[in-house]
Amino acid sequence: MAEKTAITVASGDGIGPEIMAATLAVLEKSGAQLAIEEIEIGERVYRRGASSGIEPSAWESLRRTRVFLKAPITTPQGGGFKSLNVTTRKTLGLYANVRPCVAYHPFVQTLHPGMDVVIVRENEEDLYAGIEHRQTENVVQCLKLISRPGCEKIARYAFEYARRHSRRKVTCFTKDNIMKLTDGLFHKVFEETGTEYPDLEKEHWIVDIGAAKLADTPEAFDVIVMPNLYGDILSDVAAQIAGSVGLAGSANIGDRCAMFEAIHGSAPRRAGQNVANPSGLLLASVMMLVHIGQPEVAARVHNAWLKTIEDGIHTYDVYTEGTSAAKVGTREFAQAVVERLGEKPGKLKPAVYASAPSAPLETGLRERNASERTLVGMDVFVNWNGRAEDLERRLRPLAGDGLALTTISNRGIKVWPDGFPETMQTEHWQCRYLVGGTATTTHAALADLLRRAAEAGLDFIKTENLFTFAGERGYSLGQGE
Ligand code: NAD
Repeated sequence: MAEKTAITVASGDGIGPEIMAATLAVLEKSGAQLAIEEIEIGERVYRRGASSGIEPSAWESLRRTRVFLKAPITTPQGGGFKSLNVTTRKTLGLYANVRPCVAYHPFVQTLHPGMDVVIVRENEEDLYAGIEHRQTENVVQCLKLISRPGCEKIARYAFEYARRHSRRKVTCFTKDNIMKLTDGLFHKVFEETGTEYPDLEKEHWIVDIGAAKLADTPEAFDVIVMPNLYGDILSDVAAQIAGSVGLAGSANIGDRCAMFEAIHGSAPRRAGQNVANPSGLLLASVMMLVHIGQPEVAARVHNAWLKTIEDGIHTYDVYTEGTSAAKVGTREFAQAVVERLGEKPGKLKPAVYASAPSAPLETGLRERNASERTLVGMDVFVNWNGRAEDLERRLRPLAGDGLALTTISNRGIKVWPDGFPETMQTEHWQCRYLVGGTATTTHAALADLLRRAAEAGLDFIKTENLFTFAGERGYSLGQGE
């Protein structure tokens, strides 16, 4: 008999323990070779005082098994509690979130019978770094951080995933017409990486129209890769229009660890009634079986599940009078899947997984030569209650060492020189000092500029150094600049 793979399992809160029991009941009868370690996470752990809902002994298990099958948890309301999901993803370096969204027409109602889309969401960067600041009385900011290595890993993961799962096309969604540097980098790396996959079709959509098309004609897409925020939103939309959020599982993949879960939450109002649909967690466990190199068992479980759905054995959330044959509870649904182990669906497409255990994805980073970085100026952000012209009069004398005030912007809109009186102005001003032409400046010159600003009584709230990289501007221009 094959060696057992150690996995860490957490039953979570709300409907979690019921759907986990149902999932494990199926896995147990499926021939999966698993050595299960149970940990406790979630509400009770939060209440015991662990601010991120998980204790050191649980981390120890996760870092040893490197595979986590997780039921949903309830995040307590109120301050001080950190999201366990975000903590787990970041701590374990789970950079890719993979969510297949499939229609099971005509057995589960959907407007998109042909839908079969996999969303690959970048999981660590973007606005989810959670670096936020209140800068002035009325203005707050959230930093959107995108790194080239982060983009390279997720783009490569998406292309490799497509190839391994016999997908034909990878689409990238960004908003790089507006965020030219951050989303622009994501798009650029997608195109660069794509050149290594000539067998796959590639395309890019601006996220707004791409999202509209996804909601309207999901059949047009295959694998879609996106930065964190768009992926978070659109993967829920995609799961819902495929049929139900109750049916979708997801994998969170890192170089060393992986976590598998349903996409829905702990649905506390349904807890303890034996009504919840265990399908999301069960399909997540199928992804886990593929990941740990038990693809035949994965296919066995997946096909038994498809046959159950096809036979009309449905929990309340997907039950439809006339289409479904029986409305069953959580335990009975799992029992129906167990009874169909070894069977295949007749109408739905049977699941097939590569028979050889898949080697770890090669997401290694490319060697790059550092481009020549030149310091050319500084944006000084100032808290100022007054008019742009008056601020300019106070800022102008600060020039020196070749640095001169070139523009003042307010929330990204240029207001000096030649501002419009119609532009709304807050107390948050971005004052740009640049050395002209091909000149360069130094950190010491910038520090002197700030010293002069302090002596002039200016309330500066932050600065950003302005660089060029191999002659290319490394900062955005204000609207109208
Ligand atoms: P939810 O997904 O838990 O529930 C929304 C509704 O969807 C439920 O009321 C129920 O009608 C239905 N539903 C969800 N899963 C179902 C299933 N398996 N079977 C049948 N019906 C199902 O979302 P929510 O109410 O916004 O969140 C409840 C709690 O879950 C919150 O504390 C939230 O923080 C947490 N949550 C956890 C995770 C996670 O652990 N991964 C994810 C999302 C939300």
